[in-house]
Amino acid sequence: MSDYKSMTAAEIAKAVSSGQLSAVEITKEALELARTEGKELNAFVTLCEEKALKQASELDQIVKDDRAGGSPPLPLCGVPVAIKDNISYTGYKTTCGSHILEGYQPPYDATAVQNLIKAGAVIIGKTNMDEFAMGSSNETSYFGPVKNPVGDDLVPGGSSGGSAAAVAAGIVPIAFGSETGGSVRQPASFCGIQGLKPTYGGISRYGLVAFGSSLDQISPFARNSEDLALAYQAVSVYDPNDSTSLNYERPNYTKALDRDRKFRIGVPKEFFAEGLDAEVEKSIRDGIDRLRAEGHTIEELSLPLIDQSIAAYYTIACAEASSNLARYDGVKYGIREGGDKSLAEMYAETRSVGFGDEVKRRIMLGTFVLSSGYYDAYYQKASQVRELICREFESAFEKHDLLIGPTTPTAAFKFGEKIDDPLAMYLSDMFVASANLTGSPALSIPCGLTSDERPIGLQFVARRQGESELFQIAHAWERLA
Ligand code: GLN
Repeated sequence: MSDYKSMTAAEIAKAVSSGQLSAVEITKEALELARTEGKELNAFVTLCEEKALKQASELDQIVKDDRAGGSPPLPLCGVPVAIKDNISYTGYKTTCGSHILEGYQPPYDATAVQNLIKAGAVIIGKTNMDEFAMGSSNETSYFGPVKNPVGDDLVPGGSSGGSAAAVAAGIVPIAFGSETGGSVRQPASFCGIQGLKPTYGGISRYGLVAFGSSLDQISPFARNSEDLALAYQAVSVYDPNDSTSLNYERPNYTKALDRDRKFRIGVPKEFFAEGLDAEVEKSIRDGIDRLRAEGHTIEELSLPLIDQSIAAYYTIACAEASSNLARYDGVKYGIREGGDKSLAEMYAETRSVGFGDEVKRRIMLGTFVLSSGYYDAYYQKASQVRELICREFESAFEKHDLLIGPTTPTAAFKFGEKIDDPLAMYLSDMFVASANLTGSPALSIPCGLTSDERPIGLQFVARRQGESELFQIAHAWERLA
């Protein structure tokens, strides 16, 4: 056995591409961990054993053939990676954590998957998630909740809880989730790892099952900033198949990590609002003091509309979801119920049986806010608020390189604590949702523990396309910690 669990993605890629370690051996270790620890955590819906081993042996062969030739090494050569089960990968089912998609297999690979494979990554499995990425605790999955590796009774956060747990438990050094409203930063914070929500348009959405299309972004998790930068670099590629994909030249993110920059960091006072746990607040404020002591400029500011971001987010996300999820009706995808009845009855029965309660709640809410007579009061109003939040952020980024605050108002909560109170669950996204509305990149990084040893997450937000700044500050933060 190698010390796989403690290796970073960068170390694995180096060892495999130089022939010191075999990609097949590494893949077998990752698969074994996924079968044992991953099963206990309920982190995976599917293991992609056959394709993973085939990919790995091809990589070993490439390395062998190439050893003398010296073509540039693949940046993720032989690195085991897990992807959330709403990202399309051919040959395996894509469930989105839902019953309604039972039996469905995607006919093409997501662009992000194609780019991962090009970079040499080995996809070992599809991870468990809240149904259709709706949730903050992973309790809405049809396949049961994921456990937080930090403690059996704690939720891992959601909706990308399976990917977060797989990285935190050391099963894979890198995993991908998706963010519509905090679904990577919030679980990263709860599980004590790093998570990046990229600039909207940074990673192609082609092959990502749509939830809220104006918000959705595939988003990486890792245990350190170098791996996070490597993960992002591999998939942040312009894609003509996604009309919202940004066409610009990406910098070399890992090269920029070591630049010793002093940042102008703004502290929005709305990130320290009512509902923020006292221990979380103390940890974040201590963290801010440490950054100040390192020479970064820290300035308070006010972004009053952050307070409206949860209302705007849940209105817009539900509206878009109600439209996106209309396609699951028993005709093209997954299960069909009442196939011997009229078309309308078949639709209704399929959707009644196929969707869980939270998804139904969102579809009803979304349909309501879009319906004639209510559209102006809800959906249109939320879109206007969104535009005003974007302007607030733009003016903040004229004076500041980064914004800082807690990722979540509390550390990981217990199973059952919020599942019957949707509003309390939605409020756990109160600090993350604004970056989704504005399309800004944002990163969560561990910042100490509560007195009962639950991880606390610190969030940095940058201007659009400012991922380099996020990786640099994360790297600087690691050296401080
Ligand atoms: N908690 C958010 C929600 O339930 C998470 C959405 C997401 O980012 N996928 O809408």
